[in-house]
Amino acid sequence: MSNRFLEFQTQVEQMNERCTQGEISPDERDNLVRGMSLVDRTWGDIWMLSPKKEWFRKANGSKHWVRDYPSALVDMASATNVSAMNIHQVACMIGDCRQCSLHLERNRAVPGEGPTSTDVMLIGEGPGANEDKQARPFVGASGRLLEELLGNIGYQRADVFITNVIKCRPPKNRDPKPNELQACNDYLERQIELIDPKVIVTLGRFSMHRYFPGATITKIHGQTKQVGNRIVIPMFHPAAALRNPKWRAMIIEDFNSIPALVEEARTAQS
Ligand code: SF4
Repeated sequence: MSNRFLEFQTQVEQMNERCTQGEISPDERDNLVRGMSLVDRTWGDIWMLSPKKEWFRKANGSKHWVRDYPSALVDMASATNVSAMNIHQVACMIGDCRQCSLHLERNRAVPGEGPTSTDVMLIGEGPGANEDKQARPFVGASGRLLEELLGNIGYQRADVFITNVIKCRPPKNRDPKPNELQACNDYLERQIELIDPKVIVTLGRFSMHRYFPGATITKIHGQTKQVGNRIVIPMFHPAAALRNPKWRAMIIEDFNSIPALVEEARTAQS
């Protein structure tokens, strides 16, 4: 565990304490915390702890802060198997994973990002070139469309958990192979278990086939399925929607059904 991270965290906690004691106002505390930053030596990413004690990361080369957690703070000593790990341990394990040959050509694995507990989880296919550089899912044009779709229903990107079925970029964006999907499956299973979303949105073929084996997206997009206490809804991948205006209209319509599905799942669980 890095001392720099711990020192940084201690400083932020001291500022929180000064605020609690009334020595500085919440605005002053926020400004002080925002003025601090921490650089990851390997990747050049910047990490920051918010006054609410949530960690944020800005990947080197990206303008966006995302909710994430510095791997230097993750205690892996207690991590024995994936099914018993917490969400940060899973992300750390993915970052170092060599369980399939995709690790050979990746720059960075992409565990996923978002709150540790949320109503909505989006599951895409796999990282592309930009995602592979920034260790973030859905960046670039697809990411912008995703944010627009979320904005239409009153959500921000940071409100949902976003990940992929495969965590490392297949070379030349080829389809992931069955053995690679199999090797990566435990990570996604554990993420779903820990995040415990009410609604899972599959984006594209590979995540759709987890829940709708053999189905065709043009036939079943927008049609829900109850899986345990969750509602799963398949949708077009945003990259496909960018290529085809008809599919873009369909994904907008399908996304608009998410708030009602969350409500439906809440009611069913209460
Ligand atoms: S794709 Fe999944 S299983 Fe393969 S190396 Fe990456 S994290 Fe590990």
